[in-house]
Amino acid sequence: ASMVNILFQEEVEETYIMIKPDGVQRGLVGEIISRFEKKGFKLTGLKLFECPKELAEEHYKDLQSKPFFPKLIDYITSGPVVCMAWEGIGVVASARKLIGATNPLNAEPGTIRGDLAVQTGRNVVHGSDSPDNGKREIALWFREGELCTWMPVQEPWLIE
Ligand code: GDP
Ligand code: MG
Repeated sequence: ASMVNILFQEEVEETYIMIKPDGVQRGLVGEIISRFEKKGFKLTGLKLFECPKELAEEHYKDLQSKPFFPKLIDYITSGPVVCMAWEGIGVVASARKLIGATNPLNAEPGTIRGDLAVQTGRNVVHGSDSPDNGKREIALWFREGELCTWMPVQEPWLIE
């Protein structure tokens, strides 16, 4: 590990970001990935994936009792999704800010949902809501060999 990683080990987090089927169908994959890249986070996992129903149900198990749960599962399994793991200092909360409010009509301009979506049921992207869930979700969506440990050349220019 680099000096930078050793010094900042405490704050380095990982988060699971997923472009939902509407984001893929609407051709927003590049646009969405670009926002996380430009911010300066490190991509450690990336794949296009057709999500089985059981995995969608496990991912959203906390929402099982909600009336919209069946619709949510149909939505997430309606076409390919882009699964991503991102790493960085404070990446969990920061990614949620970049994504914006759950209801895109309440999401600030400049956020992904604020700029690119109109309805909660079609809000184009998912982001983990805590460091623990980041770890849980990455383990759920990726196998070990699918994740990369690497040092972007820009790192010393992003982290002092
Ligand atoms: P998030 O963390 O901002 O994605 O929001 P939640 O964890 O509360 O909900 C997960 C996902 O379920 C949201 O991103 C929406 O896709 C969906 N969802 C949440 N609330 C509703 C709702 O009231 N109606 C519908 N159709 N979908 C919802
Ligand atoms: Mg959530």
